[in-house]
Amino acid sequence: MRHSTFLEVNLGLLQENLNKIKRLTKAKILPMVKADAYGNGLIPISKFLVQDCEIKRLGCATLGEAIHLFNECPDLNAELMVFSDTEISNPDFSEAYSNFAITPVLHQPSDLESVLSNPTLSKLPIILKVNTGMNRLGFSLEELAKYAPRLKTRGVKHLLTHFARSTEQFKDGDKTHKQLSEFSQAKQILKDAGVSVQETSVSNSGAIEQKIGQDETFVRPGLMLYGPYSVEPRIWDGSQISRFVTKILRTFEVKKGTPVGYGVNVAPEDGFIAVITVGYADFSVTTASGADITVNGYKGKIFARVSMDMMFLMFDPSVAGKLKSEDQIEIWNHDNRVIGDLALSMKTIPYHLMCGVTNRIPRIYKVK
Ligand SMILES: *Cc1c(COP(=O)(O)O)cnc(C)c1O
Repeated sequence: MRHSTFLEVNLGLLQENLNKIKRLTKAKILPMVKADAYGNGLIPISKFLVQDCEIKRLGCATLGEAIHLFNECPDLNAELMVFSDTEISNPDFSEAYSNFAITPVLHQPSDLESVLSNPTLSKLPIILKVNTGMNRLGFSLEELAKYAPRLKTRGVKHLLTHFARSTEQFKDGDKTHKQLSEFSQAKQILKDAGVSVQETSVSNSGAIEQKIGQDETFVRPGLMLYGPYSVEPRIWDGSQISRFVTKILRTFEVKKGTPVGYGVNVAPEDGFIAVITVGYADFSVTTASGADITVNGYKGKIFARVSMDMMFLMFDPSVAGKLKSEDQIEIWNHDNRVIGDLALSMKTIPYHLMCGVTNRIPRIYKVK
């Protein structure tokens, strides 16, 4: 157990973000809780969403995540959709889907064949993903047309697609418009074949921020629910629900040319160094990234090689004496611009930072 280094997750802020999303769209909300709810904790986040926020359906990436959630919370009373690694063609796992609390998103013809040919799954709702241009998962329009006759009696419960470039500003004739028009064609193909479609969804965070896909039944927010924005310049002013806290272990002044840490990194100028108590075993920080981390208003840079349990922040020599051992540091806080800026300066994305907080970091939950 660690005492001064933790990820504080504020569930009250999660609820506020959800309410803000509700004001952006009239569609129902299907929160994505894959990847341990983006590092925030699958079980507490899912429980809170279902029990305190009236959410009825959650999105996982893998069957393993859904089974884990189902086993930990058998009374959760929500449908758990599995979006990518469904294991639907593996006979060992079809049992997991037989009571319909867990449902697979079928994203290729072989998935659909497995369901249609398995008598234990004869009542399983059909959920289909269509490839409209992201070219990762999903049925092509041709494949959809080919299977439509076999779906006539059973119908499609949910038809969905996923955008490749929803973080870019939505403009006439862009990729997102093309994907939307392909999705309309997909609906038309099923309609013409007499296949009923109960529900649809298209939008992830970037699209929701830009009010795209409002007319579908559901929206599928992941990132924005937990805080970060997708579209620049920033539109989404939700709160980062987590605060990543650590501390300074020690400080010292260095002269230009002094080697610091493993390897051959020397101070390029005179400076003031704080050793902080997170390293690469705590989060996905890369060696010598040079990223900016501001501590109590003093701008520091990640310097030299990141160690397993520690790393160096380099400050201007004038900071000497202003920061000291045991001072608390926020790697990020509830202002979603902080994690956005940190991700930019680490040349990565907020998803990666949040999912990269390892299980050595205790999660502490607060309800405001
Ligand atoms: C992860 C995912 C989402 C959520 O995406 P964000 O950008 O995090 O909002 C939505 N839909 C699908 C199919 C996904 O895989």
